[in-house]
Amino acid sequence: MSDWKNLVRDVPDFPKTGVGFKDIMPVLADADAFADAIDALAAPWRDARIDAVMAIEARGFLLGAPLARTFGCGVVPVRKPGKLPGPVLEARYALEYGEDALQVQADAVAPGARVLLVDDVLATGGTLAAARALADGLGAEIVGASVLMELAFLGGRSRWNGTAPLHAAWTI
Ligand code: AMP
Repeated sequence: MSDWKNLVRDVPDFPKTGVGFKDIMPVLADADAFADAIDALAAPWRDARIDAVMAIEARGFLLGAPLARTFGCGVVPVRKPGKLPGPVLEARYALEYGEDALQVQADAVAPGARVLLVDDVLATGGTLAAARALADGLGAEIVGASVLMELAFLGGRSRWNGTAPLHAAWTI
């Protein structure tokens, strides 16, 4: 079995000075590593009922869609503002400088749908917290969140409030 972790590439000072970027593209480009990474994301929820995977722009899309196929459920994109047509819900979150926002289509899932949030990297946790707020806004039941990598030194897990599990396939 390939070890997908060996294929994650550390890129210093990208996209700006001081950031140690975790580049997962070599993982996605390798058939065995990609499959193993998706399996690692899915592992805690193999026996759970999940109605939709909510995948966070942009690398979360590349993980969330195959993950949804393994669960046999649909995938819902959580996107940057201005990308999704129709009525949307929006959640704002703070960045180091300024703020950003995420949106989801207001009819993306039925109230009470059991959703799993998915992204590639958990860093400061603002992105995942905003996605979680959107799932709450949809009236969904949040089964949990799954990320490929958690940068524990940035403390993002502390912003994952609530009881649903947050699974990191790899904690650094
Ligand atoms: P945060 O809101 O700080 O937890 O940032 C998480 C989001 O930013 C995820 O969607 C990641 O794709 C991206 N991100 C943040 N830090 C990194 C990093 N060091 N390497 C790769 N992606 C990152």
